[in-house]
Amino acid sequence: MPCAGSCLPPPLCISLRYPLASAATFTITHFGTPPDAQVAIQHAADIWGSILVSDVPIKVSVSWTALGSAALGVTFPNGRKDFINAPVAATWYATALANSLTGFEFNPGEDDINIYLNSGTNWYTGTDGNTPAGQYDLVSVALHELGHGIGFVGLAKKVGSEGSFGLLQASDFAPLITTFPWPEQDTLPGIFDRFPACAYPGDAGRFAESVGPLGSFFTCNQLTLNGANRTGREWRWLIRIYAPSTFALGSSCVHLNEATYPAGNPNEFMTPFSSAGHSNHWPGPIGLGMLRDIGWNLAPRWAWMNRPWSSNWWSSRTRFPTHSPVRRAARGTSQAITVADLQRTGLSSPHGGQGG
Ligand SMILES: [Zn+2]
Repeated sequence: MPCAGSCLPPPLCISLRYPLASAATFTITHFGTPPDAQVAIQHAADIWGSILVSDVPIKVSVSWTALGSAALGVTFPNGRKDFINAPVAATWYATALANSLTGFEFNPGEDDINIYLNSGTNWYTGTDGNTPAGQYDLVSVALHELGHGIGFVGLAKKVGSEGSFGLLQASDFAPLITTFPWPEQDTLPGIFDRFPACAYPGDAGRFAESVGPLGSFFTCNQLTLNGANRTGREWRWLIRIYAPSTFALGSSCVHLNEATYPAGNPNEFMTPFSSAGHSNHWPGPIGLGMLRDIGWNLAPRWAWMNRPWSSNWWSSRTRFPTHSPVRRAARGTSQAITVADLQRTGLSSPHGGQGG
């Protein structure tokens, strides 16, 4: 299905010119998901399946349920740490990534990803990206939520002024539950948490290596990505992470900065808010680079992503063609698409408090 209308170009556009071969497969179990929504979610999974490489099928459960008025989706990735040949010790990996890295299924009988999608949302379930005004594009949101499930996720938490890694509790997200056992995270970070750095002048430390209080880093509003290889050191000050001055569990530190990558930007896919009447079926260069940084192997057709970034690369590659003008919804129609954020406070001012 070609992309059309307002969608940012998805891999399937390119598949019109190159054979589309699935390099990873998703096995999706639905709970209450309408048939047309299942088609849209499968479409998003197929996009990821054409990008990622894994010999182990990625097991996803999708629950179609009321989440209140603010959230579009909530995702819980299953995780493993210190598995054999883990690239980085004492660090959590999404099981989908751990399985891919080793070719071994560490979690037989367990889902890799639990996704809750809001049954009360006015969804557009078509797969063509022609999302009508007032509707939310399910393919886009499913692509985003699956992105969290495969590793675009962190374990940062802030209570009062105290920041921590690896202290997330199941009760933090009640009444939602996971189909897999909630792990004790042993105050360890996720692999994604090892890349953001605070861009205060002179600060070159990464999150987990920083000597300053974690809590202040989580809300410094100046977080950037410091991927050592793919996202490129020359861009570390420019790739902005969502880290508003008020910490939002599940939104802060696990998304790209909304204001830096608004609707229509090639990298909007992993920002915390989504707009009605708009679609994005493509992870974008930063998203793909980040996946490389945390350890994913990308399918050969994306092999050009497997080299360090450069300014030339950036300038020549980031201008993905837009087939037609992107419809931008008014700010008031943005809704949160978060890893586990059930807070509603962002809705009233979804773009506030985070700087540019
Ligand atoms: Zn999200």
